Amino acid sequence: MHTDLQFEKALEKGGISFLKNEKLGAHSTFRIGGEADFFLGPSGPEELGTCVRLCLQNGIRFWIVGNGSNTLFSDKGFRGAVIEMKHMSRLEIRGTELTAQAGVMMPVLCEKARRASLDGVNFATGIPGTLGGAVAMNSGCYGQCMADIVKCVTVFDSEEGVFRSLERKDLSFGTRDSVFLHRPSWILCEATLELAKGCREDLYAQAEEFRQKRSSTQPLDKPSAGSVFKRAEGQEPVSKLVDLLGFKGARIGDAAVSEKHAGFIVNEGKATQEDVLALVRKIQQAVSDAYGFIPEPEIRIVGE
Ligand SMILES: Cc1cc2nc3c(=O)[nH]c(=O)nc-3n(C[C@H](O)[C@H](O)[C@H](O)COP(=O)(O)OP(=O)(O)OC[C@H]3O[C@@H](n4cnc5c(N)ncnc54)[C@H](O)[C@@H]3O)c2cc1C
Repeated sequence: MHTDLQFEKALEKGGISFLKNEKLGAHSTFRIGGEADFFLGPSGPEELGTCVRLCLQNGIRFWIVGNGSNTLFSDKGFRGAVIEMKHMSRLEIRGTELTAQAGVMMPVLCEKARRASLDGVNFATGIPGTLGGAVAMNSGCYGQCMADIVKCVTVFDSEEGVFRSLERKDLSFGTRDSVFLHRPSWILCEATLELAKGCREDLYAQAEEFRQKRSSTQPLDKPSAGSVFKRAEGQEPVSKLVDLLGFKGARIGDAAVSEKHAGFIVNEGKATQEDVLALVRKIQQAVSDAYGFIPEPEIRIVGE
């Protein structure tokens, strides 16, 4: 039997609902991406385990997506299964520890923490991704990042087919980096954040300050994936260099360097993955010529 058909039958038999030929542009804040052969949305860790096991048993490659806010899919789509984590959304607070499943959106998680007067994660209130994506990317801003607050996690180890409890030290956090970006067989199911008691009014006031700062400095009205490049050790932020090099407004196809924030590439309409990548390469070349290093993209580029 053809592999796809065999996989479809296995999903049906396993009681897993799925979509076929789902447009990935709808699952990335860049609004770029062709069709995935299969699109799965497990509602909990056990179902996630089943989805992944069925992919492996049927020779179907898979890609994990949270909110797709740091992801640039191919216009040709994805040959295999994209597994979206957003339906895994349980959250629990015990004392100063907040435990949530990978699909919880950071703005929701931060609101729950504020309501419980918990400080430590407020910095992430405007990050438009899931907890899983934030941990995988070690997302951060205003001098803080997820590595500062992650205490432990549960991952599904798809190679061994088992769930594992890991501590912060096992996660190899770096600048917008963690073990998850190098070990795609580990899927983050749940994370516990170690927070501290804070003053609720102060946390709400700070969140409002962050919101205003973002809306005045970032092109939030246009599709993008946030800052495209990582800040290199000992260097100025790449956005500053890109601005100095006069790139604001530079455009290839419908991909353009934002006029508001030179670190963002925005989709002005029908940008393709190749438009974005051509602009990335042009910036890399110019920064390399002027400053002697090649800025590394932070965004995750997914091939067909
Ligand atoms: C307007 C805007 C502002 C932004 N501001 C910031 C900012 O201030 N700071 C910042 O750091 N980033 C920022 N970003 C980038 C992005 O929002 C963050 O990186 C976010 O944490 C990504 O989460 P996500 O769920 O969307 O991840 P996705 O884009 O879905 O995935 C990112 C990576 O994580 C992997 N992944 C996702 N979930 C899991 C999981 N459960 N287990 C294992 N791997 C997983 C994916 O496979 C992929 O490799 C911004 C983006 C936008 C569009």
